[in-house]
Amino acid sequence: MSFEVTILGSGGALPTLNRNSSAQYVNCSNKHLLIDCGEGTQMQMRKFGVHFQRLDIILISHLHGDHFFGLVGLLSTMRLLGRDGKLTIICPKGLPEIIRQQLEVGYGKLDFDIHYIELTGKEHQLVYEDKSIEILCFPLKHKIPTNGFLIKEKLKERKMKKDLLDHPLLKVEYIHRLKKGEDVIAENGTVLKSNYFTEEPAQPLSYAYCSDTAYAEKIVDCIKNATVLYHEATFLEQHKDLAKITQHSTSKQAATIAKMAGVKTLYMGHLSARYDETTSFINEAKEIFDNVFYVEDGMKIIVQ
Ligand SMILES: [Zn+2]
Repeated sequence: MSFEVTILGSGGALPTLNRNSSAQYVNCSNKHLLIDCGEGTQMQMRKFGVHFQRLDIILISHLHGDHFFGLVGLLSTMRLLGRDGKLTIICPKGLPEIIRQQLEVGYGKLDFDIHYIELTGKEHQLVYEDKSIEILCFPLKHKIPTNGFLIKEKLKERKMKKDLLDHPLLKVEYIHRLKKGEDVIAENGTVLKSNYFTEEPAQPLSYAYCSDTAYAEKIVDCIKNATVLYHEATFLEQHKDLAKITQHSTSKQAATIAKMAGVKTLYMGHLSARYDETTSFINEAKEIFDNVFYVEDGMKIIVQ
């Protein structure tokens, strides 16, 4: 099953013609997630072929406008399109009331169920789990309470060895137990060892999302060995004082976190509108961490 991220908005606080405000669509084991929802996100979803009604969960990192001003519009459009499935929104405390008030002034009403999970921005905990994925939140370091998110596949069952599927003692009804790691006694009394008939499943993949945040080593333990890390890099090294004041990161700081956490690949984003190229960001980051990219709107990341 696929694990893919589509970048819907890669810009900083000020949207530009090329870079929309923050939003990402994640498809993990057929769960459809939206992380952050800056202004214009629904247009970006249309542009890049993301189906509104498929969304199961929306994650909002914090209540700066460039991360949630598109939410009420998206919810209204979902209603107009006839949504009836439940939607889960994991968000900072207070957002449900903001949405309620925004809808109320225009006598608008949503006629599908929203299940809100409100966070204080201080928790490092599991916030969602089903049979195939889990989502953890953790605190970032920003001007207001802000959550990072880690989306993880669950460990899958062991895999049957294909060349043993026609083994004379193997019956179809044994396969389920062997894949669970159980040994099975065949009809003639022979013990069929799970270890012999099956092999280790692939290691679960994971995607960590860290935006917005100042340099914060406390993040490292929360994202240890993630397959892919998205970490904001709003500024270059020459503006590191500005990064500190605004509680954002430079590309070197993002690369340092990636290296300390031992992630496989780093994608940087949340580009300040003062820059018109990202090559310098890559060059500065590569001094510390080699496998690094800068995201663009419409980019697809395969988590692998
Ligand atoms: Zn922010």
